[in-house]
Amino acid sequence: MNLIDPAHSSEQLAFQVTRNLAARSASERDRLLENPGFGTVFTDHMVDICWSEKGGWHRPRVQPYGPISLDPAAAVLHYAQEIFEGLKAYRHADGGVYTFRPEENAKRFNRSARRMAMPELPVQYFLQSLHELIAVDGAWTPSGEDQSLYLRPFMFAKEAFLGVRPAKKFAYYLIGSPSGAYFPGGVKPVTIWLSEKYARAAEGGTGAAKTGGNYAASLLPQSEAAEQGCDQVVFLDAKGNIEELGGMNIVFVMKDGTLVTPQSESILEGITRTSILQLAADRGHTIEERPVTLAEWRDGVASGDIVDVFACGTAAVLTPIGMLKGEGFADEQPRSELSLSLREELTDIQYGRREDKHGWLRRLDA
Ligand SMILES: *Cc1c(COP(=O)(O)O)cnc(C)c1O
Repeated sequence: MNLIDPAHSSEQLAFQVTRNLAARSASERDRLLENPGFGTVFTDHMVDICWSEKGGWHRPRVQPYGPISLDPAAAVLHYAQEIFEGLKAYRHADGGVYTFRPEENAKRFNRSARRMAMPELPVQYFLQSLHELIAVDGAWTPSGEDQSLYLRPFMFAKEAFLGVRPAKKFAYYLIGSPSGAYFPGGVKPVTIWLSEKYARAAEGGTGAAKTGGNYAASLLPQSEAAEQGCDQVVFLDAKGNIEELGGMNIVFVMKDGTLVTPQSESILEGITRTSILQLAADRGHTIEERPVTLAEWRDGVASGDIVDVFACGTAAVLTPIGMLKGEGFADEQPRSELSLSLREELTDIQYGRREDKHGWLRRLDA
């Protein structure tokens, strides 16, 4: 579908930059950055690149943040041909703005694109879009503890056509949203609900792609979880094994120090999970990626073979699971020192407080 090999394009796009004349003043920005919450405050600009079957990727722009005008027949509104990514920019003590393993997000974006029959965005363009946004809106990267600028790249089908086939026109966008500490009062264990009635993804489906439809499928079970007094849902995969939380991956810590994470074709492979498991491996822990049954989980907690359970993803980084509830049961989950120490090590690297041995950081403002 695409003419450029994403892995090998080193071409730079020439972005056309239109400054936002209504950009907020420094004092207004500082006021918003004091307590930005999550996902409601946006920076002054956005980046977009068009794709068409004839022209490939073209018209790269940086423009004022604002509404997108779409034809009511745009394919995304009907058939949900859409993908997204999520990563953060961190303000370091030296004033620099850094992001974490963005090439991994770019590659995953393209894996999602392939599954959703969308054009791949050359990794170089993805990275360049991050630099372009930070060049105009870098000042929106907050410097408070555990604060960051959340970056949201996304792509959708904008061709106006009601026939069912991959669209021939797409738009890639990048927006930025300053975000506060996920756990303002310190990390708090979550209670999760085991959804046996609903699945977020099917075998052969789109579970491994970061696409909005998977999230739409998770909303009703999420409401069910809330009715049960739970914060999050854990899903089973098509084989009945533990899958993930719908926006976070899950990891079990065993008595002998081994970290086990479910393997399943419908899991979205988190970059946070890979990184945490790498840090654990660096400390000498054995890592196992294999199917995990509900029985293994519940029995392991009961017998003491499992000593810690946590969820992980970009937004919350690492969240200990305090309780697993399901129809007719509520199992208190054990805690060890390990999860919070891995969380601290990872955030120390992200915020530049510890040596970046793996070369995971990329400076965006220089
Ligand atoms: C984004 C996402 C995750 C976490 O991935 P990270 O790269 O760690 O942020 C986990 N599960 C799903 C379904 C996701 O969409």
